[in-house]
Amino acid sequence: MVQFLSTQPPSTQRRQRPPGIGSMIVATALLLPAITAPTTGARAAGLSDPCGRITCIPMAVHLWAADTATGLPGGTVTPDQRRALAHARKQLAWANARFAPMKVRFVPVKLGWLAPTERRIDSAAARDTVGRDRVQQGAVLWVGPWQLVDLDGHSERHGVHWRDRADERSELRRRRWLIVARSRYIFVLAHELGHFLGLPHSKAALSLMNKHSTPGRPSVHAWRFTAAERRRMARRLRALGKAGTLRALRWLPAADVLSP
Ligand SMILES: [Zn+2]
Repeated sequence: MVQFLSTQPPSTQRRQRPPGIGSMIVATALLLPAITAPTTGARAAGLSDPCGRITCIPMAVHLWAADTATGLPGGTVTPDQRRALAHARKQLAWANARFAPMKVRFVPVKLGWLAPTERRIDSAAARDTVGRDRVQQGAVLWVGPWQLVDLDGHSERHGVHWRDRADERSELRRRRWLIVARSRYIFVLAHELGHFLGLPHSKAALSLMNKHSTPGRPSVHAWRFTAAERRRMARRLRALGKAGTLRALRWLPAADVLSP
């Protein structure tokens, strides 16, 4: 677990307590077996609030920014890195609000920056290589280039749930990740997380997994996972926990890695 946590000394970390998390802590069974964490000296170890009855799923995030290569002295985030982080925080907050009824929360624990050459992911081979070496056992990987191109080579896509084509292990252990570009659509990460947790597309008007905009469909802010979809994802989460593909955090990191 340590490799997921911020390496900043605790004294420089800002306490990030998401609004409403306390009220979300109600009695319900954990969906994943939690990895063990020290119960004493937790803050010194860079840990903050306990996840309690929330299933906190660690997420590794690797984003692209136009100025990553030039950088700023002292590791300060650059202007476009700041924009990339703001986009990521918005996508994640929107997704987590849709997972709240399941008592599931995705928690970024590692931040990395994509190479300048990974700006545009435009082939199946590029989708393989952008994620393959960044996958971390136990965590969800989100790779965020500037642009994702459909495999037809022309049309733009906003996100995809991708399986490593070179990996022939079982369905549950097979390396998979999300590629979510810096899209103007707020729901992309939530939709791809739905695929990650085993959901197919849906025709239900309110479902987040419905990718068609039909007349009379409610606005995007009303979209959510249906009760049947939540049950299906809960089953998949348990299976992924058993397989060791995902491991829940017992503690929230004291610092939000997506906040500059
Ligand atoms: Zn989809």
